[in-house]
Amino acid sequence: MKTITKHYIDGAFVESHGHEVMDIINPTNGKAIAHVTLADEEDTRRAIAAAKRAFTSFGRSTKEERAKILNRLYETVSARVDDLTAAMVEEYGGPVQFAAYIVQAGANAFLAAEKALQELPLTRSWEKTTVTLEPVGVAGLITPWNANALFLCAKLASAVAAGCTVVMKPSELSFLQTQVWLECLHEARLPKGLCNVVIGRGDVVGAELVRNPDVAKISFTGSSAVGKTIMRDGAVTMKRVTLELGGKSPNILLDDADFDNAIPTALGSAFMNSGQVCAAGSRLLVPKNRLDEVKQTIVNVMPAFPVGDPADPKTVVGPMATQKQYERVQSYIRKGIEEGAEVLVGGEGHPKDLEAGYFVKPTIFVNVNNDMTIAQEEIFGPVLCVISYETEEDAIRIANDTDFGLHAYISGTDLQRVRRVASQILAGRIAINGMRDDQQAPFGGFKHSGVGREFGTFGIEAFLEPKAILE
Ligand code: NAD
Repeated sequence: MKTITKHYIDGAFVESHGHEVMDIINPTNGKAIAHVTLADEEDTRRAIAAAKRAFTSFGRSTKEERAKILNRLYETVSARVDDLTAAMVEEYGGPVQFAAYIVQAGANAFLAAEKALQELPLTRSWEKTTVTLEPVGVAGLITPWNANALFLCAKLASAVAAGCTVVMKPSELSFLQTQVWLECLHEARLPKGLCNVVIGRGDVVGAELVRNPDVAKISFTGSSAVGKTIMRDGAVTMKRVTLELGGKSPNILLDDADFDNAIPTALGSAFMNSGQVCAAGSRLLVPKNRLDEVKQTIVNVMPAFPVGDPADPKTVVGPMATQKQYERVQSYIRKGIEEGAEVLVGGEGHPKDLEAGYFVKPTIFVNVNNDMTIAQEEIFGPVLCVISYETEEDAIRIANDTDFGLHAYISGTDLQRVRRVASQILAGRIAINGMRDDQQAPFGGFKHSGVGREFGTFGIEAFLEPKAILE
């Protein structure tokens, strides 16, 4: 049984002032694997004070100094990709293929931020005016559990590139991977106090970061409900906020799409990380006149999405992260059935022979109406809604008929038409003919999916404040 009792403050591992102890449960079998001593407000204030001291010098650092730090972080995190991946698999049941991809993406985020920093002019001048982009100050970085390692890296990378010092609050379901990550951080020998990490609860550590007047900015990734709390409570101290929240992303198959490719890709997007992904394509919009073909293709390709042991490289769908998450997914499956949607594959309960952990059956509903709860609310599990549409305009209307606007996917062979449809979709990112990523492209949402953007120059600008000097 592992025990974690320390935070990382002012360049050192320090014992927790807070006393509350939490168990970490392996979701594959429901057994406790670690005890963690959680921080209190005092631990958080100590970390904020360290970051505030460090900001007096790091806030004036040059691009070259920041670039060196980003490169060091890339090296130290890259060296531990396997250990980070193993921790993700063990503590929240992340399927190993996805976990490995996410951890590598985290390491790469440091190099991507360094590249973006070189491209971002921090000073602009014209006539007798000079504008400099100044770091906002101490930033509080709060991550969710589903891709904690990536968000720790991506948020820190943008903040460092901007010249901010930080206090990080990783998800309480991610403390094992955070321990490995902290060893990488320590190994990178950053200036003391530049990056502090406090292990604790959202309503204790997170709330103190949001409330504390010495924190200038909050960069948060998590649920829309908590994001709204942060925006409201942060207003008291005029916090700058970046909020990366939930999604209910549409995946539009146009009637000329190559279904043999587009449907497996759509299922891949819906079931990625066991469906626990903010950008999951959880609403599949298909032309009504090809619905039967869609159903048949789904049934045919389902064996390529096995559920089981997350450590097995063949597994696509592992367990849900917690018992609560398991119950939540079950309640949505029940709700879908009650509301009249038809279960094409999956359904309620555990898959056969996987009763011990928090496993659910990957479930695909057809005959879904976009007004149904399962089509409107983020389920955060392997549940896909197939919704049929009559015309292109109808598809666009249904895609946009949601409170969210994080991501969208569109498939079709006529690229002009695909681009025309993409131009009318309200979402922060739209992937055409497949799942795509670009770490220089902004990531973030329209509407309830959030405020602001991460990654690339957009992500760095979120930690900067323009200052104009007029002579
Ligand atoms: P969550 O909102 O429950 O928790 C996220 C983080 O916020 C955790 O570290 C938690 O401790 C902290 N927190 C909780 N209450 C807080 C408070 N009052 N003040 C400050 N911090 C607080 O989310 P989760 O369950 O960890 O993650 C799943 C959610 O995250 C989903 O809704 C998903 O869509 C979203 N998400 C969004 C993105 C994106 O980039 N848009 C990426 C991944 C996940």
